[in-house]
Amino acid sequence: MEFEAVIGLEIHVELKCIAKMFCDCPNRPGDEPNANTCPTCLWFPGAAPRFSQDALEKASLLCLALGAELQPKSAFDQKIYYYPDLPKGFQLSQAHLPLSRGGGIEITDEYGEIRRLRIHHIHMEEDVAKLVHEMEGRQPISLVDFNRAGAPLVEIVTEPDFRTPYQAMEFLKALRTQVRYSGSSECSMENGTMRVDANISIRPKGTSEMNTKVEVKNMNSIRHVGDAITYEIGRQSAALQAGEAIMLHTRLWDPDKKVTLPMRAKFEGPCVPDPTVPVIELSPEWIERMRSRLPETPAVKAGRFVKQYGLTNEEGISLSTDLEVAGYFEALTGQEVAPRMAMNWLITQLVPALKDHRLEMGSSPVTPARFAILLKMLAKEEINANAAREVLSFMFDSNDSPEAIVAARGFRQVSDTTAIESLVDKVLSDQSAAVADFKNGQGKAMGFLIGQVVQASGGKANPKVIRELLTRKLGGKP
Ligand SMILES: [Zn+2]
Repeated sequence: MEFEAVIGLEIHVELKCIAKMFCDCPNRPGDEPNANTCPTCLWFPGAAPRFSQDALEKASLLCLALGAELQPKSAFDQKIYYYPDLPKGFQLSQAHLPLSRGGGIEITDEYGEIRRLRIHHIHMEEDVAKLVHEMEGRQPISLVDFNRAGAPLVEIVTEPDFRTPYQAMEFLKALRTQVRYSGSSECSMENGTMRVDANISIRPKGTSEMNTKVEVKNMNSIRHVGDAITYEIGRQSAALQAGEAIMLHTRLWDPDKKVTLPMRAKFEGPCVPDPTVPVIELSPEWIERMRSRLPETPAVKAGRFVKQYGLTNEEGISLSTDLEVAGYFEALTGQEVAPRMAMNWLITQLVPALKDHRLEMGSSPVTPARFAILLKMLAKEEINANAAREVLSFMFDSNDSPEAIVAARGFRQVSDTTAIESLVDKVLSDQSAAVADFKNGQGKAMGFLIGQVVQASGGKANPKVIRELLTRKLGGKP
């Protein structure tokens, strides 16, 4: 029997807020353990939560960026469960009245078809504390770090619209781009600011029954999500074919062994309305104000790049995936760098160089203004491409202007015909074999001869001038 998978995702996204959700403690989970705490986020009895406007705005922007409908009325519930990472015994979450309903993302699936994957709802919740398991001598101990307690989160719950691991991975990539655009979250699975749980069940292909699902947690990258779903589909299909029943339970992905393993269930109690945080009421005017704060979507931006700058579709998409890269590109074109040159140098030179230097685009010493000066020198043929690459690497270590680096290091390209002509003559007399090849119709010989002249000039001679001189002296094309 052939099976098909029914997959739904639950995605936790940590909001990029300065403070926690219900107190003023800094939202910096990575600090010295328990440095960022107060009676509210240590969950002392009687400490009153105060809901953060910033968290509400960031969460709302995220919902709008995903095409969801903000609800006029939403509210917090107490999700009751007992665990050492939650000593107050309940987590503030929205179970009955979520912040938004609906929304979705369009992807191109593995068959080249456009497929809309729907979001059921998005709700807000506070994060719980972090348990750290260590050894004290030979004694295993568990420590609790409350820096993360009360950190602002949203949970995006999808419809079970996914049929394959590929669709889940494409959805997550698009979701990550759109959420980053909204400025609400860093949205990185590697850094733990995006956490994904997958609910997977299988059924005979062509039927519409909904079978018992298994939840898989603990994936640390989008690739892991794909691998875990693939494994789980195989495991469940084999079990069904062997006549075993699928039990509702939770499994953890083990990235080393590449298998999912069952985990112990937590006790989960009911959700009851919370009496301490006021009901959130959003007016249509407030929602419109939030909507006006959203930047253009990645897809719209890519389309505009194609029209405005004469780029191809692929180029438009690759430039607009990252909002910072897109902004940098437009800063370069604003400084009158030709769009295609700006794009090529940005994608193939600057972005990899930033990665090598472990620098963020925003804090790099190579600002758009400095980079534009360099690229304009290249466009005017004052330097050649090799020199431009070298000057770029010097720009990371010094604040000197590109002109100063070119002058100090002698990168200026020689375009003076008389100076180059004597080098050309010397190469022509030294390389008689290549000259003979050229005359016998071997086009490759021209490249070799140009290379020899460039080398003789210490890399400074303008290849275009060399080619012109060589062509003239050798009597036209072979
Ligand atoms: Zn606090």
